Amino acid sequence: MPGWKELLGGKGANLAQMARLGMLIPPGFTISTEVCTYFYQHNQKYPKELNFQIKSAIAMVEKSRKSKFGDVKNPLLLSVRSGARVSMPGMMDTVLNLGMNDEITKELAKTNSRFAWNSYWRFIFMFADVVMEAEKAELDKILNLIKKENGLIQDLELSAEDWKETTRRLKIKVKELTGREVPQNPWDQLLEAVGAVFKSWNTQRAITYRRLNKIPESWGTAVNVQSMAFGNLNDDSASGVGFTRNPSTGENKLFGEFLQKAQGEDVVAGIRTPNPISELKERFPKCFKELLLISKKLESYFKDMQDIEFTIENGKLWMLQTRTGKRTVQAAVKMALDMEREKLISKDEAVLRISPNSIESFFRPSFGTKVKKEVLAKGLATSPGAAVGEVVFDPKEAEKLVEEDIKVILVRDETSPDDIHGMAVSEGILTARGGMTSHAALVARGMGKPCIVGCEAMKVDYKKEQFSVGGKIVKKGDKISIDGTNGNVIFGEVPTVLPEASGDLEKILKWADEARTLKVYANADTPLQAEQARKFGAEGIGLCRTEHMFFEKDRIEIFQQMILGKDKSERERSLEKIIVLQKGDFTEIFEAMRGLPVIIRLLDPPLHEFLPKKDTDIKRISQKLSISFEELKVRIEGLRELNPMLGHRGCRLGITFPEIYQAQVRAIAEALCDVSQKSRIKLFPKIMIPLVMEVEEFKIIRDLIDEVFSEVRKNRKIKINYKIGTMIELPRAAIVAGEIAKEAEFFSFGTNDLTQTTLGISRDDAGRFLPLYLEKKIFKDDPFVSIDEKGVGELIKIGKERGRAKRKDLEVGICGEHGGDPSSIEFCSKVGLNYVSCSPFRVPVARLAAGQAVLKGKK
Ligand code: ADP
Ligand code: MG
Ligand code: MG
Repeated sequence: MPGWKELLGGKGANLAQMARLGMLIPPGFTISTEVCTYFYQHNQKYPKELNFQIKSAIAMVEKSRKSKFGDVKNPLLLSVRSGARVSMPGMMDTVLNLGMNDEITKELAKTNSRFAWNSYWRFIFMFADVVMEAEKAELDKILNLIKKENGLIQDLELSAEDWKETTRRLKIKVKELTGREVPQNPWDQLLEAVGAVFKSWNTQRAITYRRLNKIPESWGTAVNVQSMAFGNLNDDSASGVGFTRNPSTGENKLFGEFLQKAQGEDVVAGIRTPNPISELKERFPKCFKELLLISKKLESYFKDMQDIEFTIENGKLWMLQTRTGKRTVQAAVKMALDMEREKLISKDEAVLRISPNSIESFFRPSFGTKVKKEVLAKGLATSPGAAVGEVVFDPKEAEKLVEEDIKVILVRDETSPDDIHGMAVSEGILTARGGMTSHAALVARGMGKPCIVGCEAMKVDYKKEQFSVGGKIVKKGDKISIDGTNGNVIFGEVPTVLPEASGDLEKILKWADEARTLKVYANADTPLQAEQARKFGAEGIGLCRTEHMFFEKDRIEIFQQMILGKDKSERERSLEKIIVLQKGDFTEIFEAMRGLPVIIRLLDPPLHEFLPKKDTDIKRISQKLSISFEELKVRIEGLRELNPMLGHRGCRLGITFPEIYQAQVRAIAEALCDVSQKSRIKLFPKIMIPLVMEVEEFKIIRDLIDEVFSEVRKNRKIKINYKIGTMIELPRAAIVAGEIAKEAEFFSFGTNDLTQTTLGISRDDAGRFLPLYLEKKIFKDDPFVSIDEKGVGELIKIGKERGRAKRKDLEVGICGEHGGDPSSIEFCSKVGLNYVSCSPFRVPVARLAAGQAVLKGKK
């Protein structure tokens, strides 16, 4: 229902919805997010009427469950659960069996002693952990010790007496750790637990999760107070989790796990290895059938795959939660196509279902089938992809190593929300315990990282910083490879290969292509990149940077000799050699793009970037140029700039050293002649002049280009067409765009430089303060990732409008890093640009984002 999520949080709203759909859920009520907001706005005080309202709500629950909160003979027991608007996995904690105390437990024990003491132990443990903030590892020690003393391994083996003893010792431990006891009065328990949920909204890990996921602080969390369904009651009881379809492959089949005689998070915590849900069919046939029906019903209501939690108490199925499930991108694509076929969703909706950024992983490398691999161990493949890195056990250390550019695989017994930082930077995640629905699996899938869980042959030793498997010891720092597609853990570094295109994804992309108005070009500097870009669906090259062609080993030296030449004639001599090389590059690029538009940018970076830095290099070049080492050093010094980004670069080079641009243009023109002679493909070359701020600059370079072309045409007697345009990457250029457009045939907003020059921030130096700017919310997003719409975006609009006013058919696009960023692409589509250009790997992302931009507008 509209508005429910905002008010009741995701969990509360969906519980209410399931009740409306006629499913059996434990009666309860939700304290709304408004209370949380009030709480934080009023110095952590509750609204006056809250106590009274809770009391009357409890009375209603008592009535429907025919029991009484705090009653010794027939007690109502509660679950207190947090729930924000969007699911924040594991961020908030739940307290179960609330309402128990010594007296009630003793009374309950008269009918089912194991159940009573097990439940009481759970309550004390959760209350101490969540509400009283006792250290969990310390609390864990009690149960572990009892097991050890009695030679037991699994929780299930503990008798009623064992649980009683565990509880007794746990209570002592809690007192020791916190200085007080878990309250005996159920009402005190309830109010304290509710308060703890509200406070947990502001724990560090919740704040971190919100920052990573852009969830506003102001939303607040709701608290769900619900009567209990007991999965730990007896052998006819169980607790389970599931997905209405397979979240890893997308297969349309109920998927999940359950544990008999278990409660709460036992299934996902990796305490015992759970049974696959298919076994529910044999063990609880009636519940299984019901669950299938509920699954279908939920999907047809929510129009999406659901992640569900359920508990069976004495053979009766209770639903505890439903939410739209996380999935791998492979599964997302399959589900979107299937659901469109099942008429659950429309074609447009299917396109909108896929997050553009996530599909990059389709093009992620895999280990391929060719190389021989020595498989060390096998676990559950929970998030596909291949990852290679050094073994690290500590999430904090993972962060440190990654900062030093070392790739790591995080290896844990199991993960918890505190590990998210470390998981986010790792190449992949490997855990010894846990099932398909464990924390590690869920989070890794969300992050699109390769992950293997439940690799039980592996024994992790945190102290020694190593794990052993079948007699082999793997130490911290050793390289391993993990394959999230089949669960293989391999010792050493396995080489990776690039994947083939996916037919399913291509279908979604075709639908996006049908919708979009933006063209998608690629930034490609080499024939290989051009080839790749075309394979991914690029409709042209929006930016071919010519300087990159000079960085290769054999070429840089010629280029260095050119820059350092004494005079024009010396420079020209080196340029002759460069023309030959560049002509070869351009020929290959034109051939690879088979007649698609190619926008070539003339030399842009400050010359000193190419200069030799080491004395040995300087010496070698001085010999080649036959000048002294000292003299060469002086020349290099002369080319140094204090602020090269705003210095001698872009078209300023073409004006001061026309011979450089002439040489480049000649290489382009000659290549064009060669290719069109050889293949008769019609070619659409466009030459782009960088860093123009004034139309007079443009005119000078344009004349230079025209002159070279007419000369080549005359020599080769071939008619070749070309267009000349400019980058708009300085605020002034955007403002005088009208004048420039009278001369230029196209504009390409270079949003990297335009962002730097508009904000006055050098991207290379922004690391010192930009993170703090984001933290303090001075900027909502990193302006080098997503276009700063208010500033840079406004300049783009101005530039486009003024340009088009003077030249109706002016082609306008962007070619900065932003060209592959979905939100920036949406902006470009809205503003009415003609194209975006991005790196080859981002082309599919851009196609999808551009399609979605139009479909969102339609919605
Ligand atoms: P999370 O936000 O981590 O999903 P939940 O509120 O869903 O936390 O609670 C965790 C687990 O506690 C659930 O998966 C479920 O097994 C158990 N649980 C919650 N409420 C109840 C209840 N009313 N009866 C029985 N078990 C419950
Ligand atoms: Mg949880
Ligand atoms: Mg849950």
